[in-house]
Amino acid sequence: MKCKFCSREAYIKLHYPKMYLCEEHFKEYFERKVQRTIEKYKLLKKDEKILVAVSGGKDSAVTAYVLNKLGYNIECLHINLGIGEYSKKSEEYAKKQCELIGAPLHIVRIKEILGYGIGEVKTRRPTCSYCGLTKRYIMNKFAYDNGFDAIATGHNLDDEASFLLNNLLYWNTEYIAKGGPLLPAEGKFVKKVKPLYELTEREVVAYALAVGLEYIVEECPYARGATTLDMKAVLNELEEKRPGTKYNFVRGYVKKKKLFESEIRRKELKECKICGMPSSGDICAFCRFWGLKEEIKFKVKVR
Ligand code: SF4
Ligand code: ZN
Ligand code: ZN
Repeated sequence: MKCKFCSREAYIKLHYPKMYLCEEHFKEYFERKVQRTIEKYKLLKKDEKILVAVSGGKDSAVTAYVLNKLGYNIECLHINLGIGEYSKKSEEYAKKQCELIGAPLHIVRIKEILGYGIGEVKTRRPTCSYCGLTKRYIMNKFAYDNGFDAIATGHNLDDEASFLLNNLLYWNTEYIAKGGPLLPAEGKFVKKVKPLYELTEREVVAYALAVGLEYIVEECPYARGATTLDMKAVLNELEEKRPGTKYNFVRGYVKKKKLFESEIRRKELKECKICGMPSSGDICAFCRFWGLKEEIKFKVKVR
């Protein structure tokens, strides 16, 4: 098949909207769509300092690549989780990606700052639960300490649709209320944005391939993934029969999200006595979990 816009061979067939595109026109389409997402949801401004959290995977690498290409002012942060070979490989990929992009990369290694890697802590708490807590905290504190205006993550349309479907099936209404492409800044919480919000996983993979981004394919050994994968499989099946299902599901959600707002339990936030970050108790969950006696400062030299 030929590209819809030129005489070249098609590189990809898009299902929604249905069209064949050559590699060049697909890249253009993808970048334009990211720019439109940013404008539609008012995610970022050109003069803001943006921290992209790069895991070594495809989504965050593509986020950094496209933001840089569109002229946004980005630096990258890789958090090495200290999970053996998996983390070593992830860090190598993150380095390669940032070299290709030409963006500064900061690396925080959990084992070096906290003494243990993820999975090495003796605790009853599930591994993914304290891993998530640790990543969220470090990302935010790093961005806050270094004066970033926003944190960009690589969540794509499939991630959001499966998150929504899962939380609707179990009526986790508070989670539903907290989804969406933009989480505005609040006190010491830095703004969080998802520039790939309207792009499918398939498009992200195709874009990474087209621009030559290499990324880690292996899953984290602790990934439970099964639920997410089930949700994604159901959505893919629906999408096959009714193209546009995922997009319309997520777009509709953004419009109706207000309906769930009353489900958010507002907690009075204080400052953690150890690190000074927002906390519902005297000591925040991060300092409590890691048994910290003093604040970890992430101040580095940024551009
Ligand atoms: Fe952390 Fe791995 Fe769990 Fe993801 S799957 S939250 S990286 S431990
Ligand atoms: Zn073309
Ligand atoms: Zn704290």
